[in-house]
Amino acid sequence: MAVNRNRDKSASCFERACRVLVGGVNSPVRAFRAVGGEPVFLDHAEGAYVFDVDGNRYVDLVGTWGPAIVGHAEPSVVEAVQQAAAKGLSFGACCEAEAELAEVVAGAIPSVELVRFVNSGTEATMSAMRLARAATGRAKVVKFLGCYHGHVDALLVAAGSGAASFGEPDSAGVPPAVAETTLLAAYNDLAVVDAIMAEHGDDVAAILVEPIAGNMGFIKPAEGFLEGLRAACDRHGSLLVFDEVMTGFRVAWGGYQNICNVRPDLTCLGKVIGGGMPVAAYGGPRSLMEQVSPLGPTYQAGTLSGNPVGMAAGIATLRICRSPGFYDALQGKTARLADGLRSAAEGAGVPLCTGSRGGMLGMALSAKAPRNFADAQACDHAVFGKFFHAMLDRGVWLPPSGYEAMFVSAAHDDAAITQIIEAAQQGFRQIAS
Ligand SMILES: *Cc1c(COP(=O)(O)O)cnc(C)c1O
Repeated sequence: MAVNRNRDKSASCFERACRVLVGGVNSPVRAFRAVGGEPVFLDHAEGAYVFDVDGNRYVDLVGTWGPAIVGHAEPSVVEAVQQAAAKGLSFGACCEAEAELAEVVAGAIPSVELVRFVNSGTEATMSAMRLARAATGRAKVVKFLGCYHGHVDALLVAAGSGAASFGEPDSAGVPPAVAETTLLAAYNDLAVVDAIMAEHGDDVAAILVEPIAGNMGFIKPAEGFLEGLRAACDRHGSLLVFDEVMTGFRVAWGGYQNICNVRPDLTCLGKVIGGGMPVAAYGGPRSLMEQVSPLGPTYQAGTLSGNPVGMAAGIATLRICRSPGFYDALQGKTARLADGLRSAAEGAGVPLCTGSRGGMLGMALSAKAPRNFADAQACDHAVFGKFFHAMLDRGVWLPPSGYEAMFVSAAHDDAAITQIIEAAQQGFRQIAS
């Protein structure tokens, strides 16, 4: 098996980047701090593969963190983007493509009647929280430990000490007064949610949740968990907000809400709906969304929001996703990979759990499947770092952190999946020895 070792050019790119970019990167996970070593710089991507600046090829399981669901540089998507770009990158005014993409989103997700496009998942959750607060006249928000909703001040919170459920800043620069507006619960623990709501429910604007948690590996909601959140919100007049920035159009057409049959009040989307361009959205029923400016008093705006290039990438991507059998085929590939990883680990005597849905997959170096953030933290992250490098050397591009989900695309053919599984067989043996 080809071994990728020469990364001289990556090393010099990183040195150059560190002189002028914070830590050499524009998003911290790219710095490889969680797995050690130096970041690998990419030159181009095609289908299921990414290619680094030294000419090494990797099967990609990051998929630009989810958006690349139809594979990298898919010809019809690239053509749509090129055609849009030739007509102007951004107008700062209305274009027809905005309604077209919104029609696709609203048509796919029954809980969404009106859509507002923004430029990142962070903006989507920030704006949805503002709307939830405006609509309820309340300040507090409930979130779950280990769920990530972007770098919004009020959502960058860690658990307070002791029994207190109020959030503490999880980043320098987040004022305690802001962090305290967020109440924290453990994922999959309805009893804690019910206790928080019994005490604070009348002040809670929203419960915000990833309906499948994808920022602490891959954690499915336990039986009845999402239903319980819906019921708690209904009891207290709070809004249920699904952050489907990762799961939207990734685990199923529309999102996980189309599978689980729990209807949120507001939905946040991102990643896949932009097909690799900076496009995200929030949406919900007309009655709620009409409270956003210019129809209502909740202000939210964006210079580049709904720009024609981003819309074109989203429309072209979702056109492929909408084709019959797309998600079944994707899920088949993902399931085959999950099985292959599990038996590769088993063959080497390494405890591993996997979970998957649609084109989303998680692996946990643990004998028991994680149910919450504490479980995810208890996985062997040092061993993950070794596995990451063993795979990188064998031409597989894994997310550089054991807390991240992996993403399979329609372009991952049998050969690509086989390459990953064979690399994993060797990789697990290497880390076990
Ligand atoms: C990626 C992600 C975000 C943040 O999106 P950005 O575009 O990186 O700001 C928010 N929520 C979830 C669930 C995500 O996975």
